[in-house]
Amino acid sequence: MSDQIEGGCRCGRVRYRVALAELPRVYACHCRDCQTWTGSAFSVQFLVAEDQLEVSGEPALFELTAPEGDRTSRQRGCPVCFTRVYNTNTRRPGLAGVRAGTLDRSDELAIVAHIWTSRKLDGIEIPAGVPAWEEGAPPEAFAAAVRGS
Ligand SMILES: [Zn+2]
Ligand SMILES: [Zn+2]
Repeated sequence: MSDQIEGGCRCGRVRYRVALAELPRVYACHCRDCQTWTGSAFSVQFLVAEDQLEVSGEPALFELTAPEGDRTSRQRGCPVCFTRVYNTNTRRPGLAGVRAGTLDRSDELAIVAHIWTSRKLDGIEIPAGVPAWEEGAPPEAFAAAVRGS
């Protein structure tokens, strides 16, 4: 079963399966929000159609509307161990952003793009040739980087 794309929280209550044939290509976001959300230097995530994500374990929901009021982020995490697992956003309907470190096979992932490098911590070097943007990426260029074509 090692070729399944599955993951879950630290305690095992929330589990998910992704209907993809291969491990997703993941990106890092170094923005301030991601640093706060993760308590780390950057988030590592991938986008997948919401209907390709099958979740069990009744994740807790936290909603956060941007101060501008134009978008709402819906974060899902484990109500027991507090691992944040995925989110949706009204700005990108139908897509889920999954925290890639929750994948069972996270050790096989490669980061193929970096955004918000203007917030990157000293001591983190982005390898030459990996696409990176100082802030958010233009959607088409970003999609191409993550798609790998
Ligand atoms: Zn948990
Ligand atoms: Zn971010």
